[in-house]
Amino acid sequence: MPENVIIIGSGPAGMTAAIYAARANLNPLLIEGFQAGGMPGGQLMTTSAVENFPGFPDGVDGQELMARMRKQAENHGTRLKMEDVTAVDLAGHPYKVISSNNETYESKALIIATGATARRLPIDSEAAFWNKGISACAVCDGGLPIFRNKELAVIGGGDSAVEEATHLTQFGSKVYLVHRRGTLRASKIMQKRAVEHPKIEILWNKTVAEFVGAEVLSGLKLKDTQTGEISKLAVAGCFEAIGHIPNTAFLKNQLEADEAGYLTTKADSTQSSKEGVYACGDVQDSKYRQAVSAAGTGCMAAIEAERWLQEKDLLDH
Ligand code: NDP
Repeated sequence: MPENVIIIGSGPAGMTAAIYAARANLNPLLIEGFQAGGMPGGQLMTTSAVENFPGFPDGVDGQELMARMRKQAENHGTRLKMEDVTAVDLAGHPYKVISSNNETYESKALIIATGATARRLPIDSEAAFWNKGISACAVCDGGLPIFRNKELAVIGGGDSAVEEATHLTQFGSKVYLVHRRGTLRASKIMQKRAVEHPKIEILWNKTVAEFVGAEVLSGLKLKDTQTGEISKLAVAGCFEAIGHIPNTAFLKNQLEADEAGYLTTKADSTQSSKEGVYACGDVQDSKYRQAVSAAGTGCMAAIEAERWLQEKDLLDH
């Protein structure tokens, strides 16, 4: 017997979809992921204090928030499997979902909530200093003792880079914003924030040629993108904020996506390019990328899946 709905992904979007689908008596199966696309629970698992999720006036630890959502999904009857989805087959119906345990599941509806992964600089020396001075999350790691009162760097020129740089000024003595072009991509208000901040210095037209250090990172070799000149910058920490990649590899282009790879959905809906397949959370959202907006679209996906199953008379009576 095929499942009514399989939810792929266990961040706020997937867990909220599961809570709603379970409460609608759809008996959902949620495949949490194991290694692909980061850890089960999603990006909040690497965040300490979440201060903007409604209902927690004093903030909540990211892992605790996800543990609570998972428990809530389970309490309402969601079945959870901790394995990766390696492929789906959307050519026929019911849809097929293949997991890393070589299981093939069939489902009438699918909810894709696999999130996005922080993009990393493709430089050999980067891996050597990952978590030894290099991070992709200032909010998660910026307060660590190794970064306190030290000079730090942020790579990127978008809103995230400016936000990370501004956040890091609380801890570092100075923050260099290293950008590969001569203008920032960030919104005007964020640009102003970076330019006017006394602790932030923008290094224009520079890319990282190499990360240097012994046990931990001690600096960067920068290459000027206009002259090719190499310079050194001594920093104790480097935070990459060069965008995210939506976790869609397992779909193998069976669903429509935008230029950056984010799944496209119909206006005011989580309906993907295939009927009965819904996309929610960061895998379809390059704009807001918040836990609460992911949860909101997870709720939409479950309601839309239920309505579609009803309309098509696909539910057992
Ligand atoms: P963006 O894609 O907007 O920016 C990525 C930045 O990284 C760009 O400046 C890009 O350079 C640079 N970059 C990409 N690849 C490399 C590379 N290999 N080497 C060096 N630099 C590189 O991503 P963001 O995460 O900043 O933002 C994503 C979305 O989220 C945006 O829509 C943004 O507005 C939104 N957002 C909003 C926030 C807010 O409003 N508070 C906060 C954070 C994000 P280049 O400019 O040359 O392409």
